[in-house]
Amino acid sequence: MPTPPASRRSLVTGANRGLGLEFVHQLLARGDRVIATCRQPGRAHALNQLVGEHPGRLHLLPLDVAAPKSHAELVRELPLVLGDDDTRLDLLINNAGVLHSGERFGKVAAETLDDSLRTNASGPFLLTQALAPWLADGGKVANLSSELGSIAGKDAFRTPSYSISKAALNMATALLARALVERGIVVLALHPGWVQTDMGGSGAEVAPQDAATALLRVIQRADAGDSGRFLDRHGMPMAW
Ligand code: NDP
Repeated sequence: MPTPPASRRSLVTGANRGLGLEFVHQLLARGDRVIATCRQPGRAHALNQLVGEHPGRLHLLPLDVAAPKSHAELVRELPLVLGDDDTRLDLLINNAGVLHSGERFGKVAAETLDDSLRTNASGPFLLTQALAPWLADGGKVANLSSELGSIAGKDAFRTPSYSISKAALNMATALLARALVERGIVVLALHPGWVQTDMGGSGAEVAPQDAATALLRVIQRADAGDSGRFLDRHGMPMAW
């Protein structure tokens, strides 16, 4: 009998709520083996319930993207949960993010700017670097960026820490694309739209289900020519 094709392996950061949780639902539904990561797995009730429903196919691991030590622990634990010789990752979704709202010029605090940079920019960059040996050749890395990180689209002083950090994430995306090009790994910066999550608020335009479906389609269709690009959820280029 022919061996069935091995299922894709996907890792999602910030998977306990919002878009991250929706990615996990949809990746499981399409048959992936999923490593869902979050800061406090013990409190991630929805994820723990899903683990019970998908034994052996959903693994829950702790990860604080802003803490490089936590990246190293994840790298140590990955082979233990995947449990075989083939520990490649086909997809890394750098989804975790933070938005400190209400910042005013003259009152922007070093702590919120630092936290935004660590969580939204250096975290995804360093995590991708740490996981690079595990990424399958031809695999994909999706960085959840934002139109608020677009320099071209900046028309007012708002969300400075978030905007600076997402602009830095866009540069990290371009650099990672170049670093990984020879292995055929596609790296994307993606804007999901204004999404109904804790971050986007209930008045946002797009349901998390629709945003995740659209983004997974864009990721699936992306090829080497798209690597290093900044795209919206319809696959259209965004202005840097
Ligand atoms: P939410 O605020 O709803 O969820 C954020 C997630 O990130 C939570 O799981 C949170 O975990 C996690 N997180 C925050 N900091 C860390 C950290 N240091 N380590 C690990 N996990 C962390 O946001 P969304 O789901 O809306 O956003 C997902 C991504 O999409 C983000 O990168 C965001 O910037 C981006 N985006 C969202 C938009 C929107 O309209 N919603 C628009 C454009 C981009 P915890 O529960 O522990 O805090």
